Amino acid sequence: VFQLSVPLNFLGSMYRELRQSLLDMETLFNLQKVNVQVKDKPNAPPLRFSKGEIRFENVSFGYRPDRPIIKNLNLTIPAGKKIAIVGPSGCGKSTILRLLFRYYDAQEGRILIDGQDIRDVSLDSLRRAIGVVPQDTPLFNNTILHNIHYGNLAASEDQVFEAARRAHIHDSISGFPDGYNTMVGERGMMISGGEKQRLAVARLILKDPPLLFFDEATSALDTHTEQALLSHINSLVKEKQRTSVFVAHRLRTIYDSDVIIVLKDGNVAELGTHEKLIDRGGLYSELWSAQETLFADVKEDDEENDGK
Ligand code: ATP
Repeated sequence: VFQLSVPLNFLGSMYRELRQSLLDMETLFNLQKVNVQVKDKPNAPPLRFSKGEIRFENVSFGYRPDRPIIKNLNLTIPAGKKIAIVGPSGCGKSTILRLLFRYYDAQEGRILIDGQDIRDVSLDSLRRAIGVVPQDTPLFNNTILHNIHYGNLAASEDQVFEAARRAHIHDSISGFPDGYNTMVGERGMMISGGEKQRLAVARLILKDPPLLFFDEATSALDTHTEQALLSHINSLVKEKQRTSVFVAHRLRTIYDSDVIIVLKDGNVAELGTHEKLIDRGGLYSELWSAQETLFADVKEDDEENDGK
C-alpha cells in the first residue's frame, strides 16, 4: 500500500497542478468573454510598440450588424497622455475598449496602434501590450498571491508585495488571517468590490504594460481611497508616459485628463480639456453641473449628519 501511494500522490499533485492551470485559462476565457472568431492572420508579426498612439479610422461596429453601436468613428488618442472617455450610459464607451483589445473586430474601418492595424499583428502581442482594470475583475479560485502574481509570473514575491503596496491593498491583505495565502474567487473568501479593484490595479502594476485601460476602475471605492489610488495611478502614468484611457461616469475622477472625449450615440460629440469643454457649454458642461449639484447635496447631508 505504502509503495503504491507514493506515485499516486505524485500523480495526484501533477493532476492538481495541471487542472489548476486549465481552470485558470478557462476562467480567463469565460470571464473575459473571448470571441473565438477573432483570430491571428497566418504568420502575423508581433506589435512593434513605440510611443503608444491609438487611432480609430472610420470605425463602425455593432454586436449585431443591424444595431450599430460605434458609427464611423474617427479619433486619435495621443501617445503618453491621460485620456478619458465619458458619456451617457450605453453610448459605447466600454465597446471602444473591447475593440482595442480585439474581443471583437470592427465591421468597417480600422484601428491602429503606432501605425499598425491591430488585425495585422499577433493577438498575443497586442494583449500583452494592454493592461485592463475592468468594471468587474476576474478572480481565480486561488490565493491572493496567485491572483496578483498572474500579472507577471516572472516577478518575485517581493515584487508582488510592492505592487500591492502601490495599489493600497497590502495592509488589507496583511490583515486577513491567511494573509497573501487567503483563497479568493467563487469558492474562496468574499472580498469587497473595492478590494477586488485594488487587486486588479496591483496585478496591472506588476504587469506594467505600455497601454493602460481603466473601465470604471475605481467606482467601488470610497472617495478617500479612490483619490489615493487615482493619484498613484496618475503618477505612474506621468512618470512612465503611458498612454492611459479611463472610462468613467464620475467626472470628478477624470477632469484633470489631457483629453476628454465625450461620446454620444457611438460618435464623438465633444473633445477637449475640462476647461475647454466647460467654456463650450455643451453636453460635458451639463453633465458636470448635474454631478456637482448632486455632489454638493451629498456633502451637505454628510455635514448635517456629522453635526448631529
Ligand atoms: P455604461 O456607461 O452603461 O457602462 P457604455 O457606454 O460603456 O455603457 P457599452 O457597454 O459599450 O456602453 O454598450 C453599448 C451598447 O451595446 C449598449 O446598448 C449595450 O446594451 C450593447 N452591448 C454591450 N455588450 C453587448 C453584447 N455583448 N451583445 C449585445 N449588445 C451589447
